[in-house]
Amino acid sequence: MAEKTEKKEKKKQAKAYKPGKMCPKCGSRMAEHSDRYSCGKCSYTEFKSQKKSGA
Ligand SMILES: [Zn+2]
Repeated sequence: MAEKTEKKEKKKQAKAYKPGKMCPKCGSRMAEHSDRYSCGKCSYTEFKSQKKSGA
């Protein structure tokens, strides 16, 4: 039996880094809220576009 001893490389997906949103004003990462993003540096706030799918 010629079994291949190929180790399946485990995908090391250590907590994928959340891309998040960058503040267009100061360029720092914005904090994500349920319905908006807010920058803690310049207090810029951007509302998330809401889905327009009925109900
Ligand atoms: Zn900012």
